[in-house]
Amino acid sequence: MYFGRISNGPIKRERELTGRVRQSQMFRPNTQEWLLPRINPKCENCNNNEYYNIYAAYIKPFLILPFGQWHPVFQIVCPVCSETIELDIDEYLLLRPFIKLNNLLETGKIDKREYKYRLERLESKRGYR
Ligand SMILES: [Zn+2]
Repeated sequence: MYFGRISNGPIKRERELTGRVRQSQMFRPNTQEWLLPRINPKCENCNNNEYYNIYAAYIKPFLILPFGQWHPVFQIVCPVCSETIELDIDEYLLLRPFIKLNNLLETGKIDKREYKYRLERLESKRGYR
C-alpha cells in the first residue's frame, strides 16, 4: 500500500515489512493466554491466518517538524484478508524478539535447529510480566 504525499497533515512514507509472527508465538508459553490481550492470535476477521505480518509505517508531522525524524507506527496485518491493527509500542516490543528470530530463519542466517534452540530460550525467558 502506498500512501503517497499528502500536502495537508502528516506525511506518510510507504510502509515496510518488518517481519512475521507465527500464531504459536502469539500465546504466552504453555498457556492459552494471549501475548497481546488486544490481538486475537487468529485473525478476528477471517480466522484463516497462520501468521501475521508486521509493518512499520513511518509518519512525520509535516508542518510541525519539517526536518524531524520519521516516527514509526507499527501495524499487525493479516496476510489473508489484510485486516490491519495499529500496535502500541509496548505491544510491538513484546513481538520484536520473535520477529527478529523469524527473520534469521527466513533469510537462512540460522538453520531450523538453531531456530528451535533460540525460540525455546526466548520462551523460557519471557514468562509473565
Ligand atoms: Zn484475516
